[in-house]
Amino acid sequence: MTMVEREITGADGPYWKGLAQGQLQLPRCRRCRAWHWPAVFRCGHCGAWDIDWAPVRAEGEIYSWTRTHHGFAGTEGIGVPYVSVVVSLPHAGGRRLLGLLAGSDSGLRVGAWVRGRIATTRVGAVDVPALHWSMVDGAAG
Ligand SMILES: [Zn+2]
Repeated sequence: MTMVEREITGADGPYWKGLAQGQLQLPRCRRCRAWHWPAVFRCGHCGAWDIDWAPVRAEGEIYSWTRTHHGFAGTEGIGVPYVSVVVSLPHAGGRRLLGLLAGSDSGLRVGAWVRGRIATTRVGAVDVPALHWSMVDGAAG
């Protein structure tokens, strides 16, 4: 069973449904155009309840990263070590997303440019839609 085959509720539901359909989308206020993440039902900038979900290019720069050497319950499908990255998205007002780094970690550093692709990550017995980030060679960070 994939995660999206179960009912998804909450403000971030469209995020998961979007990933399951192959699209990264984030919430954006229709009134003041502020991007939000984590997802919200109401804009914290202007108070509007009118939140839109807009497609976002899955690319940005590494805000922070960590390499995990210890396996935790539920992450057996990932294997160790793995690198988690927090990516700042310039096309979404600098909102930041968490994901796994896939492939080579050559050039891994804060500020390095990465590109995401939508994949799944096995968490326990469930395949969760996820962004897997890859280093972009030669890009200025
Ligand atoms: Zn707003």
